[in-house]
Amino acid sequence: MRRPLIAGNWKMHMPNPEAVALARQLRARLRGLSHCDVLVCPPLTALTAVAEILTDTEIALGAQNLHDRRSGAFTGEVSGEMIRSTGASWVLSGHSERRQHFGDTDAWVARKLQAALESGLNPIVCVGESLEEREAGKLEAVIQRQVHAALENMGDDLLARVTIAYEPVWAIGTGLVATPEQAQDVHALIRSLLSRIGSPRVAEGMRVLYGGSVKPDNAADLLGRPDIDGALVGGASLEVESFKGIVDALKPAPKNL
Ligand code: PEP
Repeated sequence: MRRPLIAGNWKMHMPNPEAVALARQLRARLRGLSHCDVLVCPPLTALTAVAEILTDTEIALGAQNLHDRRSGAFTGEVSGEMIRSTGASWVLSGHSERRQHFGDTDAWVARKLQAALESGLNPIVCVGESLEEREAGKLEAVIQRQVHAALENMGDDLLARVTIAYEPVWAIGTGLVATPEQAQDVHALIRSLLSRIGSPRVAEGMRVLYGGSVKPDNAADLLGRPDIDGALVGGASLEVESFKGIVDALKPAPKNL
């Protein structure tokens, strides 16, 4: 059984006072959480402050990006080790906004992934097609290219530490959501790719999250599909009740006695 993960990506929101306030609310509202894993990825500037608040809670902490080198003359960048030193244990690689606006290529995403693993971070690799690619019938080819570029030649030991997020670019921050059927189809494709890269046992254990306008009212339907193991949430992670609504959508229904 794969344990679901709900991850919040705060993007370039939340200056420190707001980040601290949201972290405190999450700590209070998600106390006693046991049915899934929860992760938040604040901006780098807030990692240390949020780490202090989330110590000894069930909520894990991650960064949104890292550099692939350990140190050096890379003004404005941070390494995996630096992220670890804040108390964070997760990091995103290949978010479509990085691919789109900052030139993160498939090769660079793979190097960042490697750097994350080497520095002891748990990486989430984001893949997903644009609307043009989907409409041109290139969906499978794009997903295959991105997954292979990031993971090929990786042994089972490292592969088992990787989480994938399928995020159709056209659904991120747009309010458009893939239907549960569309999402499940791509998740099943990703899992079959994973089972060719690693052993079927490892592929079966890897989490594949869905991301793209997940909200409390569409979460249960998406998260109920067999190959959807959680969500990467942008907009709805910026407010405690909407994030909690998504976390709660995973709760097993109470049994009628
Ligand atoms: C994201 O940032 O990864 C994301 C899925 O954003 P949103 O939920 O706002 O579409």
